[in-house]
Amino acid sequence: MKPGYRGHGRLALLFLVAVILPSLVLVLFTLRMIGQERELAEKRLLDDRTRLVAELGRFLLLHLENIKLQETDDASFSSQSRKYRNPEVVLVCRVVGDRLLLPWNDNAGKEDFSENLKDPDFSLNIRSGEKEEFENGNPEGAVKYFTQALNLARNPSSQSYARLLLARALVKTGKTTRAAEQYHGMLASQSTPVDEYGIHLSLYACRGLLESGESKDEVLTEVTAQLQQNRWHTPAETYLLKDLFSELIQDETASGIRQAAEAANNELIEYQKLLEQALSLQRDFGALRLLLSGHNSTDTLKPLWTPYGNPPWLVNLSHGNVDSASWLVAIDADKALESAGSEIGTLREWQGNIRLVESGQSEGVLLGANFPDIRIDISNAGALTGTNPGILRQSFYWLALLLVLGVTLFGSYVVTRDVRRELRMAEMRSQFVSSVSHELKTPLTAIRMFAETLRLGRSRNPEAQREYLETIVNESERLTRLLNNVLDFSKIETGRMVYRPAPASLADIVGAAARTVQYPLNQQGFRLNIKIEDGLPEMNVDRDAIEQAILNLLSNAMKYSGEARDIDLSLLRHNGDAVIRVTDHGVGITEQEQTKIFEKFYRVNSTENERITGTGLGLALAAHIVKAHGGRIDVESAPGRGSTFSIYLPTERES
Ligand code: ADP
Repeated sequence: MKPGYRGHGRLALLFLVAVILPSLVLVLFTLRMIGQERELAEKRLLDDRTRLVAELGRFLLLHLENIKLQETDDASFSSQSRKYRNPEVVLVCRVVGDRLLLPWNDNAGKEDFSENLKDPDFSLNIRSGEKEEFENGNPEGAVKYFTQALNLARNPSSQSYARLLLARALVKTGKTTRAAEQYHGMLASQSTPVDEYGIHLSLYACRGLLESGESKDEVLTEVTAQLQQNRWHTPAETYLLKDLFSELIQDETASGIRQAAEAANNELIEYQKLLEQALSLQRDFGALRLLLSGHNSTDTLKPLWTPYGNPPWLVNLSHGNVDSASWLVAIDADKALESAGSEIGTLREWQGNIRLVESGQSEGVLLGANFPDIRIDISNAGALTGTNPGILRQSFYWLALLLVLGVTLFGSYVVTRDVRRELRMAEMRSQFVSSVSHELKTPLTAIRMFAETLRLGRSRNPEAQREYLETIVNESERLTRLLNNVLDFSKIETGRMVYRPAPASLADIVGAAARTVQYPLNQQGFRLNIKIEDGLPEMNVDRDAIEQAILNLLSNAMKYSGEARDIDLSLLRHNGDAVIRVTDHGVGITEQEQTKIFEKFYRVNSTENERITGTGLGLALAAHIVKAHGGRIDVESAPGRGSTFSIYLPTERES
């Protein structure tokens, strides 16, 4: 296995043990905490709801009992009236035995219509008239008797009655105009007598007028006024009202009348619903009674409010103080809940969210012992979430988790990056050792071989001897350069590198470097094109160091030139900098590698470079030297097209 793979494997293990596992544990732990917190919050919410509902139950009971007392304790109370002291009340009526006396069944305090017939003269005429009309089929005769009765009538009530009969007989005789007069007379009368079906006589007059197709305005006014009176209308009267309205609505001639009749009719429909619910309550009263008075003897003292119908009413019995009768009080549950809720501070926020759950369902919370089978649903938690500390804590846990995970990931990124760098460095260092040994060996072998040849006097040709000596010197210089690089690098690493700047001409330094490489250049057939700009001042530099940097660039240019044989070396001035530029036309460097080649030990790993020896120190050293002189080094290169390395030295440092 390659050392690199082992290193990566260890890194992965380290990552798993130091980052993934702890993070996983942390996530699981946080999730558990959040779960528990949620459970707790839900429990708290439920507790809150139960508490709120219990409070609502207490307030509601107080509220309802209060209303009941007020309604049934009223001496002036009339069971006929639909206007109660409290707007939440829908029905108050007497209970006789097992029967519920709906307001219109309750005759207490009601004017007895038959009183009118007690006057013997009046009643004789009425009876005679009816006899003529129905038994003898003589409406003319009936008209006479009824006119007589009308004259004898002593109060508005009997007057209206006589007028009604008279008008009916008149219609039969074809005298509709006179009949209408009687009807008008009835409507003009202040009194509102009621027949045995609980129908106000004026409504009969209205029907009579409508049949004759007259006075629709007047009829509409009367019918609407009757409807809007705050009294209970009997079912019979309600049907008559309905008839009258539907006739007015069908009117094609006057849209004003039709619209007004439609509006009033809608009111009547609402009333009808109330009436029907009251009627069904009357039917179901037997079964309900048991509930109302409690299931067993101990409960009898406890006021039990029972839900009934839809819209829900809360129903309860009371022993009124007016007489010893029992009373039934029915209250609109939604309205009562709303006003009881608004009395409790915390519940005010729940306005609109408190809902009575239909009996038999299991959702919601039981309202309390006084409300058998009544559940309240305040599941809309909107009002509580704002103040719910559980939610706050949950978000805090999430945040903390995110933060810790973020920090862990960042830390592991930094550690991984460093460890990888170290691994790479270790790899490069081991390569470095083998490269250096190789680099040392080559010149040493050459030196030894040529020195041996000379010593043994094998070559007598002075030209060849000179050549051998040149090679020996040249290879020693290469060795020296290599050793200098290694030594300088070790000085840099240990912080012992010292530069000794002194005024020097860059042109001289560049020239010296060119001379140094002249021999190996010639040997390998390179052409070095030197271009030195005139007029560059002397600069304060460490001469040897700068020369070494240039030599490193030149030696790289030779090493990485491939087949190309031209190398350019120039010294020029650019934007206040002295620039030393070395250009080759060789293998070039990819953009990716350009940022790395200045790192110590770094060598580009490519097939072209495989055969070329090197230590990976040359550019790192050159960069260090240039930086120590306040300058910079950069590279422009394209693979296969060659590279240009430029050393920029600021001329402000001129001496
Ligand atoms: P080396 O001893 O390997 O030459 P350097 O530090 O001098 O070390 O260079 C680092 C790497 O940069 C080299 O291995 C080589 O791949 C690349 N390099 C340097 N100079 C050139 C050049 N003129 N052309 C192409 N590649 C170069």
